[in-house]
Amino acid sequence: MRVIAIDGPAGSGKSTVARAVAARLGLDYLDTGAMYRAVAFAAIRRNIDPDDTTGVANLARQMDLEIGDAVIVDGVDATIEIRSPEVTRAVSTVAANPAVRAELVARQREWVAARGGAVVEGRDIGSVVFPAAELKVYLTAEDSERASRRTKEMLDLQYDQVAADIARRDHIDSTRAESPLSVAEDAVCIDTTDRGVDAVVRQVLELAGDGQEDPRGA
Ligand code: C5P
Repeated sequence: MRVIAIDGPAGSGKSTVARAVAARLGLDYLDTGAMYRAVAFAAIRRNIDPDDTTGVANLARQMDLEIGDAVIVDGVDATIEIRSPEVTRAVSTVAANPAVRAELVARQREWVAARGGAVVEGRDIGSVVFPAAELKVYLTAEDSERASRRTKEMLDLQYDQVAADIARRDHIDSTRAESPLSVAEDAVCIDTTDRGVDAVVRQVLELAGDGQEDPRGA
């Protein structure tokens, strides 16, 4: 089973790079952040407080979640809503819940196994979900660059607001007890700050054995 793990913080370029790499390699693409967002979305919709660990854990176990080009939560298309500021504010609290993580990690492994492999993006893919992935990439970028990228994607939010939100999520995601955002020991770190998407995609493809030159510069 071919699994390529792409981890990193918000705005590091994960989604763009992971989608392009998957398309090029003919693999499916799984956005695990969308799954945590779907749980946060479902909790808000049912008036369950994101801090209610038992309530949110039960919800995660029971909810029907289809993930692909669209994100369908209990039969409702939530593809757009899972990116809303309200969901973004709640998602890291939901993702720090160990029972939610256990449930979603099991679903992620099933999703990938059913497809015989995938390019999987998230925070803990190389470290926890697929420790045996054939390639683990960790993308980073300077804080201001990440905030600028996200501001361009969000039409109704200002830079300062986006920067503060990313800093808050980074903090919760990297300090939580369960599977914090971390660089897997055998991951290749790529700083995308001053680099175009194409160059990063090319480097990842080369690392995946789909190129001519040795991208590690050896
Ligand atoms: O990737 P994205 O920014 O959409 O992820 C939303 C949130 O989901 C992250 O801030 C993090 O709290 C959580 N997440 C996670 N583990 C993953 C993917 C996302 O905890 N594998």
